[in-house]
This record gives sequence, C-alpha cells and structure tokens, in this order.
Amino acid sequence: MKQTDEVKVMRDPIHGYIHVNLQVVWDCINAKEFQRLRRIHQLGGDFQVYHTAEHSRFSHSLGVYEIVRRMVNEISELKESLTEYEKATVMLAGLLHDIGHGPFSHAFEGISPLKHEEYTVKIIMEDTEIHHILAAVDECLPRDVASIITYQHPKECMNQMVSGQLDADRMDYLLRDAYFTGTSYGNFDLERILRTIRVHDGRIVVKESGIHSVEDYIMARYHMYWQVYLHPVARSYESLLSILFRRLKDLYQMDSSIKEIVPMFAPFLSGESADVKALYRLDEPAALYGFSCLIQGKDFIAADLAYRILNRKLFEYQTIQSDEDVKDIITYVKKLGYDSTYYVHQDAVSQKPYSPYASNENGHNIWVLEKNGEVVELSLASDIVKALIHADLKEEKKVYYPLERLSFREDVI
Ligand code: CA
Repeated sequence: MKQTDEVKVMRDPIHGYIHVNLQVVWDCINAKEFQRLRRIHQLGGDFQVYHTAEHSRFSHSLGVYEIVRRMVNEISELKESLTEYEKATVMLAGLLHDIGHGPFSHAFEGISPLKHEEYTVKIIMEDTEIHHILAAVDECLPRDVASIITYQHPKECMNQMVSGQLDADRMDYLLRDAYFTGTSYGNFDLERILRTIRVHDGRIVVKESGIHSVEDYIMARYHMYWQVYLHPVARSYESLLSILFRRLKDLYQMDSSIKEIVPMFAPFLSGESADVKALYRLDEPAALYGFSCLIQGKDFIAADLAYRILNRKLFEYQTIQSDEDVKDIITYVKKLGYDSTYYVHQDAVSQKPYSPYASNENGHNIWVLEKNGEVVELSLASDIVKALIHADLKEEKKVYYPLERLSFREDVI
C-alpha cells in the first residue's frame, strides 16, 4: 500500500483532525464522485428546523473513515490480525459507504429506480474515477470494498466496523449531527467506546466495563431520532419533496415534455438511463435549479410545490387519531381549491434505537464480553437496553396539508 509523502491532515470539529497516509485514500477523496458529496446535505430536511445543520455527506464520510482508521490502528487485535490490505479495504469502505446518495436522500428515492446502496455499489464497480483508482491498486479492491458495504465480507469484524449496530457510520453521524444541529442529545463517549472494543472469535465485542458508554450511545440514537431525524417540521419539508417528485413522475406519464423543463430529473422520470452518470449530475444545486425552473413552468401543482420548497412555505401537520381526522382534512384542502391526492400527505414514523436479532446475521447485534470470558448480546447484559427493546414501539402518524392557499407572483421579488 503506497503511502503519501507526508501525513495529510484535515481539521474536523468532531475528530480534531482527519489523518490520511494512504495514497489510495487521498486519491479517492480527490475523485469527482467523492467531491460531489460536498453538494449533498447530510441531513435531508433538518436544516429547515436547525438552521446550522448544513453539513454535507462529504464531511460525514471523512468522519466515518477517521473512526475506522482509528479502530484498525488503536484496537490491538485489529491492528495485529488484519493485513495492510484489509486495513485499507475497510477504511475505504468507511470513506465510500455513502457515495451513491442522491439529492435530499430519502425523498429522492421515491423517483429513483435504485436505492442509494445500489448506486454506491455501482459507483465502486463500474466505469468511474473511484473504480479506476481502486482497481489500479489491486483488481480485487473494488469488489472487496463493496462487499463490506453490503455486509458480505468473509471477515465479520470488517462488516461490523462499517455497517453493524455499533459502527463507525452511526458513531460519526450521531456526533456530527448533534454538533451541527446544536443539540446535545447525540453526544456519547466515543473515546471510551474505542478503548473498550475488542475482537473475540472474529467478532467486534465491547468489554463489560464499556457497557455504560454503549448504553449512552443507544440513548443518543433514541433521542436523536425523535428530536432531529423524525422532527415533524423536517418531515414536512421532506414530504413536499416526495410529493413534488411524485407530481413530476405523473406529469411525465401524461406528457414527457416536462423533461425539457427539468432535464436533470429526466433519466429518473423515465427510469431508463438512471445510471451513475445521471446520478453524478443530479446533485442538490442541480435539483434546486430544477425547482426554480418549475416555478416558471405551466403546471400549477409543480410550480406551487417547488415555490414552497424554495421559500419554506411548509405544510402544517396534525397527529392522526382516527380516519375521520384525515377525511376532515381532505374536505378542508379541497375547499382551499387544492387537489387532495397531492396536498394531503400521510406519514407514519417509528423507530427502535437498537433491535437485536433484527436479522439472522449475528453481526447485527452488539456483543458484550463479560469478565468470565462469555459473550452475550447487549440486552442480556444491560437492564436499560432490555427495558428499551421491550417497551412498546412508539409510533406517530401524522397528516401534512396546507393551512391556507399560497399566492405568489414570480414577477415580484
Ligand atoms: Ca452514513
């Protein structure tokens, strides 16, 4: 593995510095597909609630890389058992795990034929700058990096580091999103967790003495979900995006000339040529430009929704107690003169901060190494986590709708 001439460092508010000493990592950071992540927000609609949550997937990806780099250098079993090639592979998987995200992440997946995980694998495996950088080091490297991101690498601990339940991805985003939203819910003791991680039978485990910091991490996830990720105002912004994307798809079915107004969305509306090149071109600035073009366009619904997105004229929301609530709102929205198939949006959210045995693969659990040498699943070692996973699943159903009719004139600024 070729080293850089000197260790490259980038300042980071979460980790102090990001350290790069492998040429292949440095080259991937400088590849155009990775630089594109500067133009994709990390948090879909949360900057509409927390006005400083403007950080990008670029900085989060560097943060995930840095945590993995620390794991393979500071956890002695990993440092000693992994080869230099394996260390580089898992660091690259951390760096590249989000490379396939579209604009406004989850809302965009409503019109995209592929999920962001599928685009991530395609960007690593197909004819891209990233692929050629990896393949030039070793022809197996693209496949090996992708296998960690899809949790299919034969070495369990390498999958766990990037996409387990106690992985570098979640650890970075909780800390980073807490920092940039200005909330304190997401904080937990990363240093303590890194100090107490061990490898046992090829699996990542946490020493019993580190259990309190892991509980704190689980609680951080719980609070961040309700206070940040599932915040109803952020959901309101994201619902406008979803509805607008649905409207564009419907318009395309009726009359494909809409693609001339918003060519950046065209491959995704037809679904035929939504390849990695189309995804590369569709970053958030391109999408936002598309929205401003729609405001000038002929379709009232698309223009109105695009205007709302650009100017934060969000939908109101109400918790749904019964079907009657929704019926009343549909009547209300029709009275305003809006088409209720677009202007009444229902959304149900729920979350589990930790769910053991969610998958048959044991690696998705968090494992605790007890003092007697036995390894047990976290909820069997922690009363707090046990209470949390056996509590009723909290679910919230809301309906989003416009409170009043919006009037806008594009000739007035
Ligand atoms: Ca991520």
